[in-house]
This record gives sequence, C-alpha cells and structure tokens, in this order.
Amino acid sequence: MAQLVLLPGKDRSLARRHPWIFAASVDGLRGRARPGDTVEVVAANGRPLAKAAWSPQSKIRARVWSFDADEIIDDVFFKRRIQAAVQRRQDLPELRGHDGLRLIHGESDGLPGLIADRYGDTVVLQLTATGADKWRRAIVAALQQATGCARIYERSDSDVRRLEGLEPVSGWLLGEAADEALVIGENGIRLKVDIVAGHKTGFYLDQRDNRLLTRELAAGRATLNCFCYTGGFSLQALAGGATSVLSIDSSAPALRTAADNLLLNPQLDATRAEWREDDVFSALRALKSDARRFDLIILDPPKFAPSGAHAEAAARAYRDINVFGFRLLNPGGLLMSYSCSGGIRREHFQEIVADAAVSAGCDARILRRLAAPPDHPVALHFSEGEYLKGLLCQVD
Ligand code: SAH
Repeated sequence: MAQLVLLPGKDRSLARRHPWIFAASVDGLRGRARPGDTVEVVAANGRPLAKAAWSPQSKIRARVWSFDADEIIDDVFFKRRIQAAVQRRQDLPELRGHDGLRLIHGESDGLPGLIADRYGDTVVLQLTATGADKWRRAIVAALQQATGCARIYERSDSDVRRLEGLEPVSGWLLGEAADEALVIGENGIRLKVDIVAGHKTGFYLDQRDNRLLTRELAAGRATLNCFCYTGGFSLQALAGGATSVLSIDSSAPALRTAADNLLLNPQLDATRAEWREDDVFSALRALKSDARRFDLIILDPPKFAPSGAHAEAAARAYRDINVFGFRLLNPGGLLMSYSCSGGIRREHFQEIVADAAVSAGCDARILRRLAAPPDHPVALHFSEGEYLKGLLCQVD
C-alpha cells in the first residue's frame, strides 16, 4: 500500500480527527496509488496516522476512512460503518417512522463522500469523492443489507464530483423504477419525490423539522415562502392554518411538482395557495412596491456560497433578501431565514441578518436558532458538516 507522507507539523488537524488532508499538507506519495485507492497516511517522521482515500486531482488530496492506521479498509469495513449509521438512526426515537430519512451523512458518519437518503423503499445514493466512488459495489451491498430496501438509485451528478475528476453518473444500481410516482409522508403531508430529476437526491430532507415548526407557527398568518421548491414549507403552513400562502420559485418543474403535491393533500384548503414562477430577488422588489405585507416569511435560498471563496458575494445576496424579508413583515411578523452555505458560518449568518434588520429599520429578536435534524448529524471534529443554519426572528 502506498504511503501519503505529510509535511512536518501538518499532522495536527489529523490529531484533532479532522478527516480532510489538503494538498498543502502533503510532502509526497511513496509508492503508487490510483484515484480512490486506500493509502496509509504517515507523519513526516514516518509515524502511521490513518488510512485514507487518495484523490490526486482534488485540493482535498485525501479523505480519512479510519484514524486507526491498522484498520483494514475492505467490504467488511463498509458493512460495519453503514450498519452503524443506519442503526444510530433507528435508535433515536425522534427519527422513527419517517418515510424520508438521511441514512448516511458523509464525513459526519465516518464515510467521506457518501450520502444516502431513504424515501420509502428506495435508497438514493450520492458518491462525491474518489474513495466512495471506488467502493460503490461494497457500499450498495451494505446498504441493501442494512435497510432491506430492494431499490437503490444513484444520483452522483453533483458538481463537486468534477473537483475530484469524476464524471456524473446516475441510474439504478439495484431494482428498477416503480410504476407509480414516489410519494413520501412527512409529518402528515404527502409529497412527491422526483429522485431522477429533482434537486440533490430528490428532496430537501434537512428542512423536515423546520417545516414542522412552520406548521406550528402559521395559524392566522399571511405567509410568503421564497425558494419554495416543491412546496414542503407551503403545505405545512396551509396545514397549520395560514390564511394565505404565496410561494415563489424560479424552477417550473419544481412548481409543477408543488401543484401535484397540493392535489395529493385534499385536506388542505387549496384556495389559500398561490404559486409564482419568478426570480425571488425581483419578486421581493415587486411585492414591496405593491405594498404587500405578510405575517410569516420563509427564506430558504440555494447555496449562495459553496465554499469560503464565495462568502463575500453570498453575504450580499443573503443580506438583500433578508432586508426585503424584514420590510415585507407586518408588526409582530416572523422571519424564518436560512443559509445552507458551507462557506458561511453561523455567527456570520447572524451578523448578516442583523445588518439586514438595521437596513430595513426593524427591531427584531431571535426566537430560535434552527438547524438540520439529527439524521444530518455534525461530527464534532468536522465543523464543515454544519452547513444548514437558520434563524427564527420576530419583529416588533
Ligand atoms: N425550501 C425548499 C428547498 C429550497 S431549495 C424545501 O423545503 O424543499 C432552493 C430553491 O431555490 C430551489 O427550488 C431553486 O429552484 C430555487 N431558486 C434558486 N435560485 C432562485 C431564484 N433566484 N429565484 C427563485 N428561486 C430560486
């Protein structure tokens, strides 16, 4: 097995159990390894530190599989890690009984580059790094065994694969598409999930708890849901008794699914729902000049800052939409504002929202700090895992 030799002093982040080894920390590779091969990571003095997956094309030159340098990385390793991740979720009472659940959350489940979401009896897999890509056969077998699911679909078409020198890949790895559309239940609402063409693995499971919170807050409130995708927040707001729900997204296919989702839930009052295909930035401006006001506003934009390098432009975009969010609220109104950008830390996001309130001339307070549910855990040593942060604010 090849050895990945670190530069002197560059073993510190590994000692803190951070799983990424950046190019700037690497002295060289001793021996031969192909992309995705397991290498032994050693300190400058030759001390063995870890086993990792080799990614020669990526700035993240290696991702750690195990901090035990003696651990053997084989099919059994993946079986053990995947079984443990699935079991941890089964053991948490609040995660029981959901049709849609994240089973494997990459680095935070000790499996860098591997995402697996379950929708009913279908698992959707996303492999974003060379190591996980290489072990796909073992991963599929282990997932099938751990879940009993007969269908596994691959959605490895995320942009980050390019950074690893990997082509996009999608398709069935086990079983085939069912005749009928895939529909999940989420806290009393039925939702269609398009695993083939939808975003990410088909749905934003990370907002499950926050959508439920919206339902609890919505009674009697005129609601605006910006970046609504397939209407998850919108339908929970209707279920919670919102007087009206205006939902905006720029994606026509997402809005078509949202309309289907409304039909799937005949218990909701569809006459209170309005959908608008538009760019949120210009829609917010138009709502302001029409003097529209709302009592609850949800801002759940896409990732404006995929990495720290985009943080400044992203901060401006977050600020802009939040200024409008505050301006469009009635007295006592609630703003639920999110960022899913890995490149923006929680404290930074709070500063951005605070600046936006000042610009809007609002006094506001934080009622809750919001995050992803526990099927999206954050490894303590991997703060990058905390990508989703939100604030529930109330204006005077
Ligand atoms: N809140 C949703 C997830 C939102 S994902 C849920 O709970 O499921 C972000 C959404 O923003 C995507 O649906 C995308 O189509 C939309 N989007 C991205 N840029 C946009 C823009 N400038 N204006 C309107 N919608 C946009």
